[in-house]
Amino acid sequence: MQTLIRECKSGVPENVISAAKREKIDSEKLSRAIAAGRAVICANKRREHKLSAIGEGCSVKVNVNIGTSGARCDPALEIKKAQCALDEGADAIMDLSTGGDLEAIRRDILKLDTTVGTVPIYEAVRRAGSALDIDADLLFNVIRDHCRQGVDFLTLHCGVNLETLKALRADPRVMGVVSRGGAFHTAMMASTGEENPLYKEFDYLLEILAEDDVTISLGDGMRPGAMVDAAKRAKSVEYLNLGELAQRSLNAGVMRMIEGPGHIPVNQIAYNVRMIKEVSGYAPLYLLGPLVTDIIPGYDHVSGAIGGAIAALNGADFLCMVSPSEHLALPDIDDIREGTRVAKLAAHVGDTERMDDKWFETGEAAMAEARRDLDWEQQFSIAMYGEHAKKIHERDGDLETCSMCGDLCAIKIVRDSI
Ligand code: SF4
Repeated sequence: MQTLIRECKSGVPENVISAAKREKIDSEKLSRAIAAGRAVICANKRREHKLSAIGEGCSVKVNVNIGTSGARCDPALEIKKAQCALDEGADAIMDLSTGGDLEAIRRDILKLDTTVGTVPIYEAVRRAGSALDIDADLLFNVIRDHCRQGVDFLTLHCGVNLETLKALRADPRVMGVVSRGGAFHTAMMASTGEENPLYKEFDYLLEILAEDDVTISLGDGMRPGAMVDAAKRAKSVEYLNLGELAQRSLNAGVMRMIEGPGHIPVNQIAYNVRMIKEVSGYAPLYLLGPLVTDIIPGYDHVSGAIGGAIAALNGADFLCMVSPSEHLALPDIDDIREGTRVAKLAAHVGDTERMDDKWFETGEAAMAEARRDLDWEQQFSIAMYGEHAKKIHERDGDLETCSMCGDLCAIKIVRDSI
């Protein structure tokens, strides 16, 4: 079966040329990175959309999660949130809906001109009634439905297996399991004593994904949910499983990403990122956060951006936006806007380390010149969110300098005296 990985082994496919052009990188280099499993372009064969390359040689990308829940279900609002995220620069949208008509909600989200991901086990739980009533056939059927509907990447918690359950029991964590997918699989294994079907029948899963060239995002079901749990054993057992599964995916010609933690103390981020990269053969790494403290709910987006920036500097490729409402409520549009902006900031910090000619390619050099020249319009056009900056600047009127130092503007004083 032809997949992008296989095509890249013998040439430079059209999708790679198009994604490389957007990325302003060499298409042959990108093609080689995809063939080696170090980069992906999540693109279901059934659906055309704006392509984003993720991984080696590419800029750091941002995903934004949207979706209904059992407590609040307004599909029209979720589409508005997705549109807001894309307007703010998101590169991908994940639909995490668990409330309402899931197939219809997904159909509308798939009309957006962007990469779309889902977590099929959420729908499997809804169809079955509870996690304990899911069987392998149902789970594979839901996965097949998502592929056929045109979803580009699926988060599947294949690395949560009986070994991780054993590690979780042997080295318990305060927060237990905080990944929803991880929790469903853990509950299923604990109740039946049987292996996770996604791990046991991984080759069959790969066959389903290869049909539509859907990317697998190997979920981190054992990601720690608190600083105090970050060094517990279950997470590391899962990383090793994910490394093995990443190699099998590559052998089967199925593009894959690895998902990483979670809640991680700042001094453990570099180690975790590098370890996951090494065990997975340098597969693209997709991170939620990581959050670097647990005691600032309401500002978790800032905590996540600090962790995301450090992770991106150390090799993370894809950051999942954390919104100000993390741990508190389903995000509204303002939360999505704010969360996306700070996630883009973290990605930008990562890019400053990845670009060959970093200060010019990232706009940093141009901004320095505009500031030196007190050229406000130029500053707003270079700024990531210039309209916002302009509003703040104009609060105190149309000044040559700004109201911070006013007539004692250091830039003006030195410019006029040398
Ligand atoms: S007034 Fe102060 S803060 Fe404002 S541009 Fe001049 S030096 Fe910078």
